[in-house]
Amino acid sequence: MEKYFENLNPPQIDAVSSTEGYIRVLAGAGSGKTKVLTNRYAYLVEGLGISTQNILCVTFTNKAANEMRKRIKRLLHEQSEGIYISTFHGFGVKILKEDIHHINYPKNFSIIDTEDQKTILREIYEELNLTIKFMKFKELLRKISLFKLNPKYISWLVDPTKGITFDDSMTTLDIVIRKYLYKQRKYFALDFQDILNFVMYLFDNHLDTLKKWQSRLHYIQVDEFQDCSDQQYAFVSRLAQKNNNLFVVGDPDQTIYTWRGAKPQYLINFDKNHQNVKTIILNQNYRSTPEILDLSNKIIKNNKLRIDKDLFTENPNGIQTVHFHGKNEFEETKYVISTINSYITTKSANFKDFCILYRANNVSRFIEQGLLQEDVPYVVLSGVSFFERREIKDALAYLKMVIYSDDLSFLRTVNMPKRKFGKVKLKKLKEIADGNDNTLYNTLLISDRNAFSGTDIESYIAVIEKFKKEYSKMKVSEILRDILDQSGYDILLRTEGDQDRIDNIAELLFSIQNLEHEYGEPLTLEDYLEQVSLYTDTERQEKDAVKLMTIHSAKGLEFPYVFLVGFNDGLLPNFRALKDLNKLEEERRLTYVAVTRAEKEFHMTESEGYTFQGARKIPSRFIFEIKQNIFTRIGEIDKDLLEESIKTYTNNSPQPETIMVKNSESNLYEINSFVKHPIFGKGEIKEIDDSSGTYKIYFESIDSIREIN
Ligand code: ATP
Ligand code: MG
Repeated sequence: MEKYFENLNPPQIDAVSSTEGYIRVLAGAGSGKTKVLTNRYAYLVEGLGISTQNILCVTFTNKAANEMRKRIKRLLHEQSEGIYISTFHGFGVKILKEDIHHINYPKNFSIIDTEDQKTILREIYEELNLTIKFMKFKELLRKISLFKLNPKYISWLVDPTKGITFDDSMTTLDIVIRKYLYKQRKYFALDFQDILNFVMYLFDNHLDTLKKWQSRLHYIQVDEFQDCSDQQYAFVSRLAQKNNNLFVVGDPDQTIYTWRGAKPQYLINFDKNHQNVKTIILNQNYRSTPEILDLSNKIIKNNKLRIDKDLFTENPNGIQTVHFHGKNEFEETKYVISTINSYITTKSANFKDFCILYRANNVSRFIEQGLLQEDVPYVVLSGVSFFERREIKDALAYLKMVIYSDDLSFLRTVNMPKRKFGKVKLKKLKEIADGNDNTLYNTLLISDRNAFSGTDIESYIAVIEKFKKEYSKMKVSEILRDILDQSGYDILLRTEGDQDRIDNIAELLFSIQNLEHEYGEPLTLEDYLEQVSLYTDTERQEKDAVKLMTIHSAKGLEFPYVFLVGFNDGLLPNFRALKDLNKLEEERRLTYVAVTRAEKEFHMTESEGYTFQGARKIPSRFIFEIKQNIFTRIGEIDKDLLEESIKTYTNNSPQPETIMVKNSESNLYEINSFVKHPIFGKGEIKEIDDSSGTYKIYFESIDSIREIN
């Protein structure tokens, strides 16, 4: 049998071989959704002879996209490049790299992250004589982001007849935002939010471009479709409009990004929004032991607003899942670490087989301290982003100088290490550059450099120019190593003697070498910079170390042994979610995502003590929603803590506000009246049970009746 059908169960085979039209795969965690997606890609290419140029495959994180590219590569016999296996943002960038000139932006635009945005804001504050008292950068960036929700700003950037204007009636905030846009235009910079905005603007204003991409993409596949936002949905459905081949997979129970605009309704109503949709359900879980699956099912069943599924597994039994209750954080940490250490010897596990999950970054602190003390190798895959550290940004700026020579990268590198090219010289250079409407670096190249005598700028230019000539023949890792060496940056770090920074650079090099190894095709510097500009911390390459990350960043991944730590009420569920049913259900889905990452064992841990607000810590209410006989409890919960917990939960439980729209004039909901449900949409009341206060409601979107109280 061909590789892409090997070992698949019948509905999985159906999904892989259903290539035409609108197809939806709805299935729980670990049932092979991502597997089906990758196998289908291979089937399209090898079974049907479709060119990879004509297939788009999108997911939500770089990590998942890389994983997918790797798996597909393994399945394909021929040397083919999966060029459109990407994240939404990554694919957006590909479109813009090819077509942004149609809207008056140059193809060598740069992508900026939060740190770059702050650099721009710093410049603006200087120019306007503002201080942090006016507004913190973080808040200002939020204002800019809100401002950009209305896409009219794009025409200011790209339409020469519009431009950015200032007038006296404007508030300082207006002026700052406009200056920010002005500088964006000047640096030809796009921030993350701009990417899809620009693509949609391009499609709206340049129909030929839209048509070109529509004709090019014969097949489109989307993983984790439940987390599609309005914009992402509009993006893929427009692209699919010509060929009408759209294959989406997802699990409504894993919707964990509604706070960022995810709309699971697009998955649930997929068959309403498109014609002749084929829906395939996968029910067999291949990832986890029956014990883990059982726990995850029992947790998610407590959500009222969901479509029930019946996942089963034929995997062999493992051990019961564990709830560890400690008297303090020290005990909790000790439990996690001693379990890890003992499995390393008794089960010959590797450190990298363990994953420690938590709801919020600050929860990782006590675990990290313990791991450090006990000398357990670990890596934190979220938190302060690796790629936002100063030395990493400097190193990448050197790489960007080789290709783009953009102003932001120039400003970062020109005086790092010191080349006596300080503020005064820079100001002079800026004036000349502004006068010629040129970039700083190009201005340097063409201007009379006597004006800059007494500086070491010549050696800087020599290094950059050397690599501009040679880079295409070199590996990215070699370029990085050599340019940091020859520019003097390496020596600078060593002289400063900050071991963390030196280690981080070593790790960056290591991650590039790994990527070169795994990329599946020769990694060019252009490719790398494009990828890295979209990186978040989850994408770091792994060594043999215990992984620590938030539940959000663990989506789609799997690990043999999983610990969910800090499983306290107020942490998970988060205290902000306690009074709101929809938020509380999202917290339950998060817990479901956490449990379903585990293959062999799942341990949930929490401990007593006090939160920093002074409240007594109690175990998560989600633990008490499930029967204790399906997990093992280690550690005793005192009677008074138990009573206090139960009191807290009952005083604090939101009731579903499912009935929002009434059809009838009367205040009572009657049989046959129509109601609107936040997830299922429109429904009709079929039966009313007054004694229990429940309604039986038929929902069109799921074509079935649900009891709602
Ligand atoms: P999630 O919802 O968490 O993203 P998923 O539905 O995408 O999960 P996959 O990651 O595709 O699930 O698959 C889970 C695991 O089960 C993987 O290790 C995969 O290789 C394995 N698997 C899937 N289908 C089969 C099969 N038919 N035979 C053997 N293993 C399978
Ligand atoms: Mg998946």
